[in-house]
Amino acid sequence: MDTDKIDWREVREEAVEILGAYIKINTTNPPGNEMEAARYLEGILSREGIDTKIYEPVSHRANLMAVLPGQGQGAPMILLNHMDVVPVEEDKWELDPFGGIVKDGYIHGRGAIDMKGKGVAELMAVLLLKRYKIPLKRDVIFLATADEEAGGNWGVKWMLEREPRLKEAAFVLNEGGSILLRDNGEVDHYEIATAQKVVSQFTLRARGRSGHGSMPHRDSANVKLIRALHRVVEWETPFMVIPLVKEYFANLAKIRSPEEAEGYRDIEKALSDPSFVETFCANPCYNAMVRNTLTPTILRAGKKVNVIPSEAEAIFDCRILPGSSVEELFSQLRDIIGDEDIEISLLPDFESHPLPPSPTDNELYQAIFKVAQRKDPGCVVTPFLITGATDSRFFRGAGVPCYDFSPFRLRQDELRLVHGHNERISTENLAFASEVIFEIVKEVAAG
Ligand SMILES: [Zn+2]
Repeated sequence: MDTDKIDWREVREEAVEILGAYIKINTTNPPGNEMEAARYLEGILSREGIDTKIYEPVSHRANLMAVLPGQGQGAPMILLNHMDVVPVEEDKWELDPFGGIVKDGYIHGRGAIDMKGKGVAELMAVLLLKRYKIPLKRDVIFLATADEEAGGNWGVKWMLEREPRLKEAAFVLNEGGSILLRDNGEVDHYEIATAQKVVSQFTLRARGRSGHGSMPHRDSANVKLIRALHRVVEWETPFMVIPLVKEYFANLAKIRSPEEAEGYRDIEKALSDPSFVETFCANPCYNAMVRNTLTPTILRAGKKVNVIPSEAEAIFDCRILPGSSVEELFSQLRDIIGDEDIEISLLPDFESHPLPPSPTDNELYQAIFKVAQRKDPGCVVTPFLITGATDSRFFRGAGVPCYDFSPFRLRQDELRLVHGHNERISTENLAFASEVIFEIVKEVAAG
């Protein structure tokens, strides 16, 4: 069948309906409860005759894998998406976060962007490939997973152990980058995340002698921790410009004002100029792209006002750049704190292996580039470093290149809705993403 005949208005209507119903299935993690969501997606895929399997790593949790078989010329491609969402503060929302309500051209609800919306766009691409009987040279795998928002242990990590053939994939398309719009609605640039910072969260713990609050003494855990924290928060971690970040800013230089562009063309050099640093590092995202960051997020000590506690701790959300080492960072921290009574320990939840970026000469990256040029001729497409974490770290750890890109055209204020109140995606964006993903998959898998 001729894919030029696809009625994209119909595709939009179908995608909107699917996403609305999908948002209604509450998969807030914790606890996740992805099984109902998996059954819902399975229903849609099986109706079309697509081979689909649900996995249940633990009760009520689920992963789903659907495969469109190819002719075995080339390793499979994976369309990855997670079914779980982050919690909501329901009273802060204007509309029901689990209502899947369509209003003024937007579908409202938790997960609309992150990432049920992208999941539905991937699903639409798969359905269209099947309906239009597009011959495939390689398998196209639709993989909807559990637990991304809480570490991924029951999701991608579990699936990689259970289904070793996933490790043989040629590449993965996941969430992360997007298409950024200027305030006037014009496309600014396409961002494809090819790497991410490494989660290296840790605890600083001080121990001392307990006692009565009326008689302060020198061996106080609280006082020791406060001194240590003071030194740590005053420390400015050194700049480290990895080649990927250098390339990112050089690409942005092409579309920035002459003043900004001058520094962006060689960010490494510009960061030796204090006045540039001041403006540049005021942007928290840019700041996090050029250095390891240590953010104290949890402080715990004392339960009663007249008791000196014997233990005090501070937990840091620490993210390190690919290529740097947590051991080295900890040894720098020990020097800065200069107190052997302060213990530094890595939180056990994350495996922190710095992984190199996925290459931009990869077939999938090139396909995204090509489709971007078709949609927005002459646009800047750039690799990007995510300062947060996605499930791609598990695939990269297994040696599979990952490209984190959701083809949603978003303004900065819309991007901030991710994990925030009133998350929503326009029906236009949902349709556009379905079309772009369909075209990208055709580029790399049609044969
Ligand atoms: Zn997500």
